Amino acid sequence: MFDNLSDKLDKAMHVLKGHGQITEVNVAETLKEVRRALLDADVNFKTAKEFTNTVKEKALGQNVLTTLQPGQLMVKLVKDELTQLMGGDTAGIDLSGSPSVILMSGLQGSGKTTFSGKLANYLKTKKTKKPLLVACDVYRPAAINQLHVVGEQIKVEVYSEEGNKNPVEIAQNAIAHAKQNGHNAVIIDTAGRLAIDETMMTEIADIHKAITPNETLFVVDAMTGQDAVNTAKTFNERLDFDGVVLTKLDGDTRGGAAISIKSVVNKPIKFIGTGEKMDAIDVFHPARMADRILGMGDVVSLVERAQEQFDEEESRKLQKKIAKNQFGFDDFIKQIQQVKKMGSMKDLVGMIPGAGKALKGVDIDDDAFKGIEAIIHSMTPEERSTPSVINGSRKKRIAKGSGTSVQEVNQLLKQFNQMSKMMKMMQGGGGRKMMQMMNK
Ligand code: GDP
Repeated sequence: MFDNLSDKLDKAMHVLKGHGQITEVNVAETLKEVRRALLDADVNFKTAKEFTNTVKEKALGQNVLTTLQPGQLMVKLVKDELTQLMGGDTAGIDLSGSPSVILMSGLQGSGKTTFSGKLANYLKTKKTKKPLLVACDVYRPAAINQLHVVGEQIKVEVYSEEGNKNPVEIAQNAIAHAKQNGHNAVIIDTAGRLAIDETMMTEIADIHKAITPNETLFVVDAMTGQDAVNTAKTFNERLDFDGVVLTKLDGDTRGGAAISIKSVVNKPIKFIGTGEKMDAIDVFHPARMADRILGMGDVVSLVERAQEQFDEEESRKLQKKIAKNQFGFDDFIKQIQQVKKMGSMKDLVGMIPGAGKALKGVDIDDDAFKGIEAIIHSMTPEERSTPSVINGSRKKRIAKGSGTSVQEVNQLLKQFNQMSKMMKMMQGGGGRKMMQMMNK
């Protein structure tokens, strides 16, 4: 995410690193580079200018602070200002109302339908809501179908009315349907157009007026940069929406939209979309995003994702097995599957401080575990539970079955043994010792 921008900001900050003191000259030099980096990332011109002016004032004002190195001080100032620019605090979503009604708006192709599904899935799993998805695109039957497919996938009911060409009526009927059937969250997907046009704007404004939703979200494709910001501005003038959803942040996005939208439109980004799958949705946290942009990783999100996958019961069982020396390959593969559920490898690595930069250009794909999984699947149940029985001829058979080499099988066995030993050590109170060692 935002690799280019991160890189350039890092280089800009480097200018100050060799200096012992902040002066008007080196601040100006650094900020010129910062501004250029922002403009290259397609940040709005005015926003970039205001940004660097604010940082400059603050940097020079803190001239007397000698506790920090100038380079570090600048990184902190840029980070704080980026956070402010992207909205400061995390903006929540209003789920009051029974049902709470969420109206989606945006251009065709922005990812509106996909996001409607993701949001329904998010509300269902994280907020234990019973959502209803509503198809209000009366022009494209394919769009209605698409929402039904999404609904089936996440097991959420989809409301649509064949033949009814009045989206206001459909939305109102859907809310009545939700009340009657115990749905406490209604997500209304509306028709988009390829570009802004008056009919579409009137239509969405009419729906908005008729149903007074708790939340009106504007969905926009982050890849479109400045266009995204301009479209948001036009929609906001008509709709006065509550928040922005920035999709496709997993792609080769430059970052301009994420950074400029709040300051230009004065509406917060509430969610981001980071992939095509239904779980590729994240609440937008300005401070964490600023950390990521500055290559500082996002450990908080990483830990949260790990916690989501953490199952106390499973963990207790696993500990018992380790204590009894019964940890086998079946458990190993379960662990791998848990890690995979946390998200794509590239996404996870991006959250580790410094890793994005260190591994730049390294192709991290989700097939990283494929070989390992194939090897484990080629083992017999006995081999999986008691790996010590795996002798030379068994290794040959496993390698052949999994399309790998004996060498690769050996390597996995070695890693497995090391891991088992380490886990045993952590259990026997060695964990503390190991942590102490690592902290030295
Ligand atoms: P709509 O016309 O606004 O309803 O847009 P769709 O939901 O049909 O999305 C358009 C395309 O963008 C589809 O191919 C989606 O799979 C894709 N898409 C949506 N959100 C994301 C995202 O966060 N990341 C990526 N990579 N693709 C996305």
